[in-house]
Amino acid sequence: MAGLVNPAMVAAGVVTGAAAAMTWAGRAPSCTWLAPSHYRGVRTRRAIALTFDDGPSESTQMLLDLLAKHGIRATFFQCGANVRRLPDLAREAAARGHCIGNHTVSHPLLALRSAEFIYSEMAEAQRIITDATGCEPRWFRPPYGVRWFGLRSAQRRLRLTSVLWSTIGKDWKWPTEAVASRLMTGATNGAIFCLHDGRALRARPNIDATLEAVARVIPMLRDQGFHFETVDEILCPTTT
Ligand SMILES: [Zn+2]
Repeated sequence: MAGLVNPAMVAAGVVTGAAAAMTWAGRAPSCTWLAPSHYRGVRTRRAIALTFDDGPSESTQMLLDLLAKHGIRATFFQCGANVRRLPDLAREAAARGHCIGNHTVSHPLLALRSAEFIYSEMAEAQRIITDATGCEPRWFRPPYGVRWFGLRSAQRRLRLTSVLWSTIGKDWKWPTEAVASRLMTGATNGAIFCLHDGRALRARPNIDATLEAVARVIPMLRDQGFHFETVDEILCPTTT
């Protein structure tokens, strides 16, 4: 009937709209509503930051060697449980000059979790990573890029800021060619690439697609005039 509004449909619409807003707020890399965050550096410098999540894993050594061969320092968002399992690799990443970030202890989805749970995952990872590497992280990457209520206060208490990405490589499921081409498409000044040297808490993950894609894009990006920086450098540049 024209002119009459069905309250149930209005309520459903409000719920759907609220759910869509929460999905956007929790997942969009550029959204800062749930906690302060960055997703890219300034557009005036021809710099790109390579970031690697979910490590360390048994495969991290190959990535460290590849980056060393090219003289590149990157950023590793480590999981506390993996650091506990492989403390020497976590330490070696830091010793080679890479920036070390916090990626929680157990890689949980933070959505719908309590503020205490979120804080304890972050605080415990901070302690484990600092003990193993000697570096106290200042950057946090939420698992799956998902943020939730409670993250803001946890970040404040732990002096952490979230870092998302401008391009995610989908290297956990795509073949080398697709990952490399996605990265090249996302190559812009200040880009932050999200890749993985682990697969959540899995032991001995196969990261061949990641390694091959990184090896392939490094010379192509340098040919285009890009240089590589850590997250510290790309977000807090000391030179212009
Ligand atoms: Zn992750």
